[in-house]
Amino acid sequence: MRFVLGILTALAVLIGVPGIASAAPQDVHVVTYDAGRSAEFRQAVDQGAQIWNDSVKNVRFEPANGGSADVVVLADDGWPRTQPDDLGKGTVWMGREAVNEGHDVTRIAAHELGHILGLPDHRTGDCAELMSGASAGPSCKNPKPNAQEIAQVEQNFAGGARIVPRLIREEASR
Ligand SMILES: [Zn+2]
Repeated sequence: MRFVLGILTALAVLIGVPGIASAAPQDVHVVTYDAGRSAEFRQAVDQGAQIWNDSVKNVRFEPANGGSADVVVLADDGWPRTQPDDLGKGTVWMGREAVNEGHDVTRIAAHELGHILGLPDHRTGDCAELMSGASAGPSCKNPKPNAQEIAQVEQNFAGGARIVPRLIREEASR
């Protein structure tokens, strides 16, 4: 009997039965992103995605392999902005206007991806916060979410949070 249970448990782990295999990969919500049209920002977008992957465990960004991506990242000359369609889905514009004002490109990418993960702007001017965005000024180069922001994202993807589809346009720091 113990042998049979052992086989069943091994099978459960292999096929990822929830509750038995608690760390099953399907517990992680995968968000695919397409940075193929983000021009000179491609590396920053990859870095921003990697920062989130290193920070949270309930959701993971993965580059889209053809087909349609959950998140499309584009480049243009406006202010950076994000149009979320749902939690983990939407469009990001990496606007050159903020980069031209000296804002850190990796911080911008991680910030916009933060909107995709359901975080709102929090314009406190605090550089320790990722979602303070441009309010922290161009001298702020911090591309990492703080503990509170990490906790909120973990909660969003643990509880199936929904977000309101609404264009989030960054504001100039001046
Ligand atoms: Zn923002």
